[in-house]
This record gives sequence, structure tokens and C-alpha cells, in this order.
Amino acid sequence: MKEILLIKNGEIALKGLNRNTFETILVKNIRFRLKDLGRIDVRKAQSAIYIEPREDGIDFEEAAERLRKIFGIAAFSRAAMAQKDYDDICRTALEYLKGPLSEAKTFKVNAKRSDKGFPMKSPDIMRQLGGDILRAFPHLKVDVDTPDVMVTVEIRDFGAYIHANQLPGAGGLPVGSGGKALLLISGGIDSPVAGHMMAKRGLELSAVHFVSPPYTSDRAREKVERLCARMGEYCGRIRFYCVPFTELQETLRDNCPEELFTILMRRLMMEIAQRFAERDGLQALVTGESVGQVASQTLGAIVCTDAACRMPVLRPLIGMDKSEIVELARKIDTFDISVLPYEDCCTVFTPRHPKTRPSLAEVEAAQAGFDFESLIQKAVEDTEEKWIYPDRR
Ligand code: ATP
Ligand code: MG
Repeated sequence: MKEILLIKNGEIALKGLNRNTFETILVKNIRFRLKDLGRIDVRKAQSAIYIEPREDGIDFEEAAERLRKIFGIAAFSRAAMAQKDYDDICRTALEYLKGPLSEAKTFKVNAKRSDKGFPMKSPDIMRQLGGDILRAFPHLKVDVDTPDVMVTVEIRDFGAYIHANQLPGAGGLPVGSGGKALLLISGGIDSPVAGHMMAKRGLELSAVHFVSPPYTSDRAREKVERLCARMGEYCGRIRFYCVPFTELQETLRDNCPEELFTILMRRLMMEIAQRFAERDGLQALVTGESVGQVASQTLGAIVCTDAACRMPVLRPLIGMDKSEIVELARKIDTFDISVLPYEDCCTVFTPRHPKTRPSLAEVEAAQAGFDFESLIQKAVEDTEEKWIYPDRR
């Protein structure tokens, strides 16, 4: 018996004008995510996307698990394929749904015939298959309102498909359908969640991370790369920029008022991030900030950070509580990596009394006291770049 994955039109998140482009991107993303599992055909036809193994031994559980994490799919089904012949449909349904039907108390058959060449009409299929299921599983009863198992038969172009209950997808829009953005990623809990949320809205992510060796270790950087790989299960591959930040931080420490250190550092991060964004055609920055969470995230501090930005800064966590962010981090499986205890460059030289109400004028005056440009350029030149591919677990 051959099993496929089936995404029907109603289960694709976007309806309306851009549907075609959107579906083309979705198909491409699905192909990319399933590629290393073997020969799997992904095609769009007859208001559905069909995902069909083309060789034996493909890990179908894994394929379904990966599909569950691809944005743009609201729901999907695992379905068995049968010949367009009633006897084969019946045999396949009884075998494929043996497990769920044995455990259920009630069921209902639903049939859809989009291939009008098939000789039986939908109500005939429903009646006849219902009778055959009752004979095979005499403990069952029919319940048309809230059946435990909904046996669905679809007669389509390429064959007949039999499936039971739908599985929930990740929702959202296909990654790449909404433009490109650059995530400032730390090793913390928040920024991976922020990136996930924006990828869910269809943005393709790159990620920039600032390191301060020898104050921060290789292991801290590796942790961030692991976070990107874990995020990649949903977001796809991520272009990763690792910026050496030590000299800039030391210069800040030695030349600027201590209580403004954090805010000045954040402005420099934004500046460097924008250089990459502008160079590589990324349209916005993404951060994990949330109002009031720490000293550098008061509204006053955000005003000062924003003033250093020439492009939109997306902050999807801005109004969320830490507990809500943690809950999401657990759900997307980044939490366990985020809580590994490595240092972040943000915690190096943390001022004893950071200013929570900095004025933009004093921040700009402090920054004007030193010419950072050549150090910024050097940091950009010395940045290491690479692709990070989704985790294979
Ligand atoms: P997170 O949990 O994401 O680390 P946080 O609550 O610790 O956030 P901050 O340390 O103030 O908050 O950082 C705010 C945001 O700045 C982060 O969400 C992230 O977007 C960015 N950021 C912080 N540190 C770095 C870093 N080393 N490299 C790149 N971006 C960073
Ligand atoms: Mg942090």
C-alpha cells in the first residue's frame, strides 16, 4: 500500500490574489526540506499539493514530521493511495484505517469525487463503504455529527485517496513569500522566538551574531549556531554572520560614560547589522526586545536604539511577557539550547548602573566623542559568513 501526504487548497494559509506565487514557493520549500529523505515527488495539481514517495524505504514518519513544521500549511493529511476501483478502495480503507477503526466507537464516511469519470457517485460510495466498514468492524456505529473517525475518500485525477483525521500544520505563510530580514540573534531565549515569529509571516531570515573573544568562548558561538539550525526546522536554511565585536566594546568601555555603555553598544550592533542588510538586500532588522524587560529595553532606550536605524526594526515580542516567550521557546524547541549557560557579549562589561532613561541627545553626544567608523568597517570586513542548515534529528 502506498502512502502519500496531501495538502488541499483549503489547508493552505493564503487565499486570494498571490496564491499562485505563494504555492510555488511553498512547493519549493517542501522539496528543500524533504530532499535528503530520498526520492519524493512534490507536485501541485487539482487544487492540492501531493507529496509522494518514489522509492522504497523512505522514512514517512519523518517526512510527515518535517511537513508539520513548514510554514504556509494550515493542515494536511496522511493518505493511502488506491486504484480508482471500488474494490481496491474498500480493501485499502479497511487495511489502512484498521488501527483507528478498531479503537473508535463511531465513524462516518465522507466521499468526494472530483474525477467525474468515476462510475459511482459520492453518496453511493459513502453508503457502500459505510456498509462494508460496519461488516468488518461490527462494534462500530455510524455518527454523522461527531464521529470518532471520519473516513474520507477522494477520487482525484491520479487515483483514489483514503484518509482519516487531518493533522494540524504550522500555519503562517511560506518562508520567502514576504521578503528578507536580518535577525540579531543572541544565545538567549528571546531572539530565536522573535525570528521564528517573523519567519512564520513569510520572511526569509538571515542572522547576525556578535562575539567578543576572549570574553566570549567558541562554545557560546557554537550554541548560537545550534539555535539557528534548530530554528531552521521551521525557517529553512539561514545565512549566518558572526561579527567580531571585542575591539568596539573595549573602545566603548574606555571612551564613553559607563552608564550609557549598553545603549551605545546596541546602537553599534544596529549600525553593523544594517551594513550587511543594505549590502545583501535584506529589508528590515528583527530583534527579541520586549518593552521593560531589561534596562536596555525601556521605551526611552528603544527610542535611542531606533534613532540609529535607517530601516524598520521588527520586534514581534514587544508586548509579550517573559513567561509567554518562554512558552513559545519550549514549543519550538529552542528553549533547551537557549538555557545552556554560556556567556553573551552583552553581559561583558555590563555597567553597574545602566541608565534606564537616557536622552537621545546625551547618547548621541557620548557617541560623537569617538570616531567608530574605522572600527565598524574592520568588524564588517572580519565577519565570518556561512549557511546554517536545518537540524536533522
Ligand atoms: P535574548 O533572550 O534574545 O538574548 P535579552 O532579553 O537577553 O534577549 P538583550 O540582551 O537586551 O535582551 O538583547 C536584546 C536583543 O538584542 C536580543 O533579543 C537580540 O535581538 C539582540 N542581541 C543581544 N545580544 C546579541 C548578540 N550577541 N548578537 C546579536 N544580537 C544580540
Ligand atoms: Mg540576551
